[in-house]
Amino acid sequence: MRKVSVFGATGSIGQNTIDLISRAPSEYDVVALTGGANIQRLADDARRLDADIAVTAHEDRLDDLRSALAGSDVEAAAGPRAIVEAAARPADWIMSAIVGSAGLAPGIEALKQGTTLALANKETLVCAGSLVLETAKQHGARLLPVDSEHSAVFQALVGEDVETVERVIITASGGAFRDWPLKELVNATVEQASSHPNWDMGQRITIDSASMFNKALEVIETKEYFGVEPDQIEVLVHPESIVHALVGYRDGAMMAHMGAPDMRHAIGYALHWPERRELPIQRLDLAKLGQLRFNAPDLARYPALKLARDVMARGGLAGAVFNAAKERALDHFIARRTGFLDMADAVAAVLDRFDASDSLIDAPMTLDNVQQTDHLARQWVDDAVVERAG
Ligand code: NAD
Ligand code: MG
Repeated sequence: MRKVSVFGATGSIGQNTIDLISRAPSEYDVVALTGGANIQRLADDARRLDADIAVTAHEDRLDDLRSALAGSDVEAAAGPRAIVEAAARPADWIMSAIVGSAGLAPGIEALKQGTTLALANKETLVCAGSLVLETAKQHGARLLPVDSEHSAVFQALVGEDVETVERVIITASGGAFRDWPLKELVNATVEQASSHPNWDMGQRITIDSASMFNKALEVIETKEYFGVEPDQIEVLVHPESIVHALVGYRDGAMMAHMGAPDMRHAIGYALHWPERRELPIQRLDLAKLGQLRFNAPDLARYPALKLARDVMARGGLAGAVFNAAKERALDHFIARRTGFLDMADAVAAVLDRFDASDSLIDAPMTLDNVQQTDHLARQWVDDAVVERAG
């Protein structure tokens, strides 16, 4: 039996992971499941899968979790530290599907046990790419991509020499506002931004798809994971979300990865890698689809894509600043304190402030420095929002 843990088990990726594991219960021995405020779901899954431990991120919900687990032998724990401790529990395969930079510390802890980390949490690589890769190397751990585009690139690279790669193209659906007139974006609401044309995902990544901050993070994730140069990475708008990525080689050939927009493909590929096993994914009928469209992204519509280029040029802690500023700007948008387009303005202002800070630019990438920088960038966004309001 393979020992597996799922971090962020109650979310969209976490539930899809549990769906796959539940289909072959005799193959998996579940170690840890973690979640947030949805105590009931966490407890129900932990009970059903007979997990060793369930952990909620909320320190003050420990008693609730204990009650929900009463009568089972599942251990209960709460708080960010307990989540990191759970990541140290031996497991052969660990899913990193917490949303946001909160996924970084448990991810690093998991890598320290030399395991396989299936990485849905793209923030891990955006905030601390070199630190994460170095930690994995040092402890003989393996990182497998779960983001659909990165899983697609990974699959298109099988059997190929990375040296012969000319370009990596990741696709984007264009999100909720792809067809909106540009001048109306200023009035876009949280509800409108929270519906995705093709993918069923958590609310935060869905809004990030509408603004393309998600794609901006993914461009940085591509650079970090595959070690390609920023100018080798392209983004293509592809409204059907059937081709997830393409790799272009030295001889002009391009390998495209296609599949129905269902995250269980990328999760399942990482779960069974290096094998390819049967998965409950809808099969494509290309004749029925008829056509696939592609076009270049309009940078005026998606300023986040330009910001990603700036972040890659800066390097170091700029990724941590960018991600934290994005997360905090998104908090303000969801709380209706700022507008949709204000998010990119706030992030740009925070990156300028980072540029003016020599101590941050030269700081080495340690987990402490990344976390402190993350806090500071969030503070800077709050300052910017207060300034605007006043
Ligand atoms: P989600 O919001 O549905 O779930 C997030 C999970 O993280 C939940 O279990 C929640 O309880 C937990 N969580 C939230 N805040 C936490 C905190 N501070 N500490 C500990 N746990 C916390 O999110 P999702 O859509 O499943 O996305 C998870 C990750 O996967 C994100 O990094 C996202 O970018 C990435 N991803 C998601 C998809 C998708 O289809 N949903 C696709 C590609 C990548
Ligand atoms: Mg993706």
